[in-house]
Amino acid sequence: MEHSAGLTTGLVPTMGAFHEGHLQLMRAARIENDRVVVSLFVNPTQFGVGEDFERYPRNLDRDIALAESVGVDVLFAPDTQQIYPRPGCTIHVPVVTERWEGQIRPHHFSGVATVVCKLFHIVCCDVAYFGQKDLQQCIVIRRMIDDLNIPVRFSMQPTVREPDGLAMSSRNAYLTPEDRARAPMLQQLLQSVRKAIKEGNCTPDQLDKWLHSASTKLEIAGFSVDYFECIDLEDAHAVRDISRPCALIVAARIGRTRLIDNLLI
Ligand code: AMP
Repeated sequence: MEHSAGLTTGLVPTMGAFHEGHLQLMRAARIENDRVVVSLFVNPTQFGVGEDFERYPRNLDRDIALAESVGVDVLFAPDTQQIYPRPGCTIHVPVVTERWEGQIRPHHFSGVATVVCKLFHIVCCDVAYFGQKDLQQCIVIRRMIDDLNIPVRFSMQPTVREPDGLAMSSRNAYLTPEDRARAPMLQQLLQSVRKAIKEGNCTPDQLDKWLHSASTKLEIAGFSVDYFECIDLEDAHAVRDISRPCALIVAARIGRTRLIDNLLI
């Protein structure tokens, strides 16, 4: 696509299997732009060995209908050969990719940053919309835009949740009924730690204890916790001083499903 004088294009990058979280991003893009492009690409380079690339939910016809229902102009669904015709350049965003998701999924953010950068250039978008649900991804993309002077405005939209608080995710489809019933614990514990921070005397030691106790409660409930942390929104470092903008983040496995969630403080 080309930039056209006076018209703005909003891009919503996705991997499909649309739910209300995706549709909210599309609606935000629709309100703020003349043209809305949604990309649908299950990007192989952001999946690790043994992750769910093959079984990732795919339903193009349903996604086309949903995108149309919220006024998307273009659904761009390239195949792998179109995006990666040969082994090519990749983007490494330092520092903010080193911990959390980046540590557990070593090539994940390089795959994400590379495909998002390619999509920015293919679509020639003015604004790009991402969900707070994937908070570290937002920090990484914002940093890439900044470091590489990419002329795209970054927009982060709030996490859309099920009525019981579970963050909507394409991967929730993997949950067994028993695991689904326990999954809202992630958000409940994030909220209880945030409440303690706001109401209590939040010393570094005390915050450490609250984070540790929340993590232990998840383990007792049958989760395997990858991290339950408080991070700085700029550089994604763990923090115990909450005077700067920060967020609580959690990642935990239940059964075969890995869930992530976060809460801004
Ligand atoms: P995905 O298809 O999972 O790669 O997600 C595409 C975009 O939708 C990303 O920017 C996600 O952060 C965003 N997203 C996914 N789930 C939600 C949600 N529950 N609320 C808001 N945004 C979301």
